[in-house]
Amino acid sequence: MTKLSKRVLAMEESVTLAAGARAKALKAEGRDILELTLGQPDFVTPKHIQEAAIASIKNGSASFYTIASGLAELKEAIRQYMENFYGYKVTPDQVVAGAGAKYVLYAFFAAVLNPKDEVIIPTPCWVSYVEQVKMNEGVPVTLMTSQENHFKVTVEQLEAARTDKTKVVLLNSPSNPTGIIYERHELEAIGNWAVKHDLILLADDIYSRLVYNGAKFTPISSISEAIRKQTVVINGVSKAYAMTGWRVGYAVGDSDIIKAMAKIISQTTSNLAAVSQYAAIEALTGSQDSVEQMRQAFEERLNTIYPLLAEIPGFKVVKPQGAFYLFPNVKKAMELKGYTDVTDFTAAILEEAEVALVSGAGFGAAENVRLSYATDMTTLKKAIKRLNSFMMK
Ligand code: PMP
Ligand code: GLU
Repeated sequence: MTKLSKRVLAMEESVTLAAGARAKALKAEGRDILELTLGQPDFVTPKHIQEAAIASIKNGSASFYTIASGLAELKEAIRQYMENFYGYKVTPDQVVAGAGAKYVLYAFFAAVLNPKDEVIIPTPCWVSYVEQVKMNEGVPVTLMTSQENHFKVTVEQLEAARTDKTKVVLLNSPSNPTGIIYERHELEAIGNWAVKHDLILLADDIYSRLVYNGAKFTPISSISEAIRKQTVVINGVSKAYAMTGWRVGYAVGDSDIIKAMAKIISQTTSNLAAVSQYAAIEALTGSQDSVEQMRQAFEERLNTIYPLLAEIPGFKVVKPQGAFYLFPNVKKAMELKGYTDVTDFTAAILEEAEVALVSGAGFGAAENVRLSYATDMTTLKKAIKRLNSFMMK
């Protein structure tokens, strides 16, 4: 008799974290693996943020539990951040902080989903959305987009997927894994459609500061008062401030939903680590210079390796506008090498070329692989060379 729950048996482990762990294990065995798996900046958290955290340890303020939804100072910092970067005002009861955007998303699904409620998820999508919806007894409705349409979902597609069980529509712009950014007019159409049908718009804006070559991030929540009322924004400090290990995410939206999320947090993690909250306050309110420096570094890497990747035989890639991933279609490359399954193809690249990528399968894409360029230029150039030789063999 298995002692495990049906819930855990029905779910998948995070494929991004698993790919990262596999690459690390092979490295530990002495293999020369180039790791382009995990989406996390290779930069160390900026010094002023480190120092704020150290001060909170030394002066004792980080010693204690905080209220479940986050320190008042952190909520104030988030409130101010929304005013500066989103251009609208919120009240503290519309803000909740938790242990990473990933956990905040989980708390959101736990707070709003009843069994069988449907969540529309434009796909390819980040690996955790589908599993988190299932863990909370909801039904993920993935909507496949096409590379030709730059992986963007249309209102027509959304309308075709809508049922009387639809409760939430998820939008992740800039997107992981495709790096695309929705334009204002596209967001307006999607937002108005969600308002018309009284659906919650879940806007995962975690990559909002990482946009390149003049592309502009428009928050869907900033388009109109009506759309804002319908939207729950998810954001965090992991990507923009090189703080993945600190585990700070937050949500901003309807105060009833936010209160319910805080209730979930209060019975699970209690609060996100106090020291991380002090670090996040400094990140959000202190100098933003390092955010721009890191953004420029990512932009340079993108502009260098995108054309090189596009030249690899059988790789077809749309130039991303944000985040730090390339998501080439490798259908042709698989044919050339005699593979039909993208996960097998990714495993062969790892084994033979010693380049660790993430199979598109976990993102709902059977013909793509994901490559993170949040790593140094030398590694990236070397990886491209190895991929080329792998394809030429
Ligand atoms: N959303 C997206 C689209 C992501 O890629 C990630 C990856 N970390 C997250 C949310 C979660 O970020 P974190 O938990 O580190 O704040
Ligand atoms: N979001 C990053 C990624 O997609 C980090 C790992 C994870 O949380 O999935 O690689």
